[in-house]
Amino acid sequence: MGERITITQISSPSSKIHIREQKGYFQRIRTTMNSLLVLLFLFTPFISYQGRQAILFNISEQQFIFFGTTLWPQDFTILAWIFIAAAFILFFATVFWGRVWCGFLCPQTAWTFMFVWVETRLEGSRNQRITLDKAPWSFSKFYKRAGKHLLWGIIALLTGCSFIAYFIPARTLYPEIFTFSANVWSNTWVWFFALCTYLNAGWMREQMCLHCCPYSRFQSVMFDANTKTVTYDTSRGESRGPRKRKQATDLGDCVDCHLCVDVCPTGIDIRNGLQYECINCGACIDACNQAMEKFDYAPNLISYISENSLQNETKPIFTSLKFIGYGVASLIMLAVIMMDIASRDDIQLNVIRDRQNLYRETLDSKIENSYTLKIRNKTQERRHYQISIDNQHIYQLVGDTQMVILPGEQLDYPVTVLAKLDRLISSRSPVNFTIREVSTLETKDNWVSQASNFFSPL
Ligand code: SF4
Ligand code: SF4
Repeated sequence: MGERITITQISSPSSKIHIREQKGYFQRIRTTMNSLLVLLFLFTPFISYQGRQAILFNISEQQFIFFGTTLWPQDFTILAWIFIAAAFILFFATVFWGRVWCGFLCPQTAWTFMFVWVETRLEGSRNQRITLDKAPWSFSKFYKRAGKHLLWGIIALLTGCSFIAYFIPARTLYPEIFTFSANVWSNTWVWFFALCTYLNAGWMREQMCLHCCPYSRFQSVMFDANTKTVTYDTSRGESRGPRKRKQATDLGDCVDCHLCVDVCPTGIDIRNGLQYECINCGACIDACNQAMEKFDYAPNLISYISENSLQNETKPIFTSLKFIGYGVASLIMLAVIMMDIASRDDIQLNVIRDRQNLYRETLDSKIENSYTLKIRNKTQERRHYQISIDNQHIYQLVGDTQMVILPGEQLDYPVTVLAKLDRLISSRSPVNFTIREVSTLETKDNWVSQASNFFSPL
């Protein structure tokens, strides 16, 4: 319980990393997940719901629209709960699978591998790219480099547009950006995020993971001896050394082919032990399995395995305090989100008393108080509402009590309340306003109420 596995800090490679493209089981999983993530990111802003963009952070109107539900700044606690729940679920997954997020779902990894894919298509394999780097400038080199940077730029621009399309409606933003008619702010933000994408995925790559990402620094806190991490089986692999196929040898199974290092996006040698630079992408597992197959050796010299399994110790994960702690915290946060959603109202009501006059006396000896009801329709549909007041044997609402409010609008509605003095019991009596949604087809049970005070000369 509470075991801490050791993470070695190996100095990061200072020279440029030329990632060797690798195919295999884990790379298929990674590519599929990364592709889905990228497609989801790019196309979500084009999904419409009830005639509007389904997901939109409308900063100018201070609204977050999510499939017909509108969240206002006062509802943003739910976003905070969602982020906290997501963090606990990530920690929970990390206890099981180590940095599986980094290797398979992190946008930095997805975009880096996408840029490497473009690079490989245009400049060739790892060895060809190293040769091209060393070659003097020629038309061929210029042509390949220009093509690569142009494609990187297009992907980066689309990424910038897509990111900003979560804040400015996509169907307005894209035509404006590509016809150069966008305003200065739209242009600034799109090009800023495009530049960040180009620099991150094209140039900085693993440097972001090694030096900028805080998660890589504190992830080891979540690990224990049951956490599956990418591990080289030293007892089986050593002593390493090259050999011919089917050659009898006293060496361990590692044929020292260096493939596991060549495919590593962070340029580390996993044979040196678990290192914080490792993003758990599994590329070295696929590369090593390929080498093992070639030499007719058993697979999984490098594999996702826990320290306990490596030492043939079986200790159920359910006994881990971290597993229980993060699991319980995740369930609590999910319950909080459900309760927050269930208790949300489509109507918002604030009752503001007239601050000029506490009360007025009418000619027929009644007492009059004035209020402003600030009523917000939080839906994305036009809604019909009715105002009512409790204790109608005491209070009487004056004027029209029905109104229509447009989607997302707030109406400041002045109301006057009358009361007979002999019905009041003190100079300050409670008065309760209710706003109820009225449908022409049915009366929905959708209402909010708020209390205020009624003042009189008693
Ligand atoms: S050591 Fe293996 S799993 Fe870790 S980052 Fe490198 S290739 Fe990916
Ligand atoms: S890929 Fe496997 S066999 Fe080749 S060097 Fe790495 S651990 Fe050794």
